[in-house]
Amino acid sequence: MSFELTSEQVQLRDAARKLAQEKFKEKAGYWDKHEEFPEENKETLCKLGYLGLSMDEKYGGSGLGLVDTYLVVEEIAKVDMTTALLVHDQNVSPRIIANYGSEELKRRLIPQFIAGKAECSIAWTEPQAGSDATAITTSAVRDGDDYIVNGQKIFTTFGDRAAMHLVYARFGSSKGAKGIGTIIVERNRPGVTVHSLEGKMGARGANENEMFFDNVRVPATNVVTLGDPASSKGFVQPLTIYNATRVGMGVLALGVAEGAFDLAREYMTVREQFGQKLCEMQGLRWMMSDMLIQIEAARCLCYKALALVDAGKPDPCLSSIAKLYATEMAIKVTLDCQQMFGGYGYFGSLPLERMVRDVRMLTITGGTTQTQKNVIASYIFPNK
Ligand SMILES: Cc1cc2nc3c(=O)[nH]c(=O)nc-3n(C[C@H](O)[C@H](O)[C@H](O)COP(=O)(O)OP(=O)(O)OC[C@H]3O[C@@H](n4cnc5c(N)ncnc54)[C@H](O)[C@@H]3O)c2cc1C
Repeated sequence: MSFELTSEQVQLRDAARKLAQEKFKEKAGYWDKHEEFPEENKETLCKLGYLGLSMDEKYGGSGLGLVDTYLVVEEIAKVDMTTALLVHDQNVSPRIIANYGSEELKRRLIPQFIAGKAECSIAWTEPQAGSDATAITTSAVRDGDDYIVNGQKIFTTFGDRAAMHLVYARFGSSKGAKGIGTIIVERNRPGVTVHSLEGKMGARGANENEMFFDNVRVPATNVVTLGDPASSKGFVQPLTIYNATRVGMGVLALGVAEGAFDLAREYMTVREQFGQKLCEMQGLRWMMSDMLIQIEAARCLCYKALALVDAGKPDPCLSSIAKLYATEMAIKVTLDCQQMFGGYGYFGSLPLERMVRDVRMLTITGGTTQTQKNVIASYIFPNK
């Protein structure tokens, strides 16, 4: 067992840290305030090859592991969670396509994702099917060489800008996980309508959307995992990718918590009250110690879970533990760091206020905290 990063990983992490601190930090508040997608950051990430870190070299990626990729995500999340999401996203739909799509789909799509020419959103959640993910009713019905897709999706991140959507649909009249599969639906197909959702709390550089598919005709070659009414394979296959995706949300949370912690530590060495620096007050020193313990624990959980996926031995229970712990930790830590700034922390002129809002989404999306507890409990009581 080794907890040491390799020298290549240290280099990768340090380069990402420099990029984040020098290029992304200053404008992080701007994207949030103006609710604008950080297009220039995406271009920079793309130019430097950060959008294909974990993608196969055969399709133009770097062929690195998940631990490597998330060292980068963590550094960027320290300053701007929305920009870090762009690097994280290569491990969502592109990775599902890379693992389960046909060779034709991989050759057609993955180079476009890596080159930043196209994005692919995940259209899974429906108004009546959130945590109960197998309750979806969107349908994909075969018609000659095509499928006809009908249904409604909600909360689709980047649905407004993505060139295509990985749509979870029911390929038959079965119930539950059986019959569910995934199919790529391009945004410009007749019958696709997208509306952005307003009033989002945090990560405001990225939009969530409501989407409608009204008799959308899609070629059968766009199927990624085929739904089969007699089997849950088309549903379970993409789920295996979530062993890493949900830990990725933990790493996003970890990065924001560390960013907030660094700001609080710095402030505490200069702010004085009662003739003392904040960093000399025992109550506050203990709060910082408690936070560091939790940050370190989250880091260990997340990277252990990712290292197991990299080693081909994913542990779904550990992935849920890591996601839950790191995201809940980040909510608490960012709030406690905000507390260190007193009244100043409550205003948007400091990044703390944004950080508190940004991390809030991470205990909801990618499976809520309660859903993770259900997964963990199913490992504690396998037959109940
Ligand atoms: C910012 C953001 C981005 C998102 N991005 C995407 C995306 O890109 N693509 C996509 O498909 N979806 C996305 N989602 C949707 C997200 O995955 C769902 O919101 C999430 O799965 C919860 O579903 P729900 O909102 O319907 O809540 P519900 O399932 O209705 O849950 C409501 C509450 O009940 C709890 N609960 C539900 N069932 C149980 C149970 N069995 N036991 C205990 N507690 C339970 C939940 O934990 C929650 O607290 C996003 C959501 C957000 C907020």
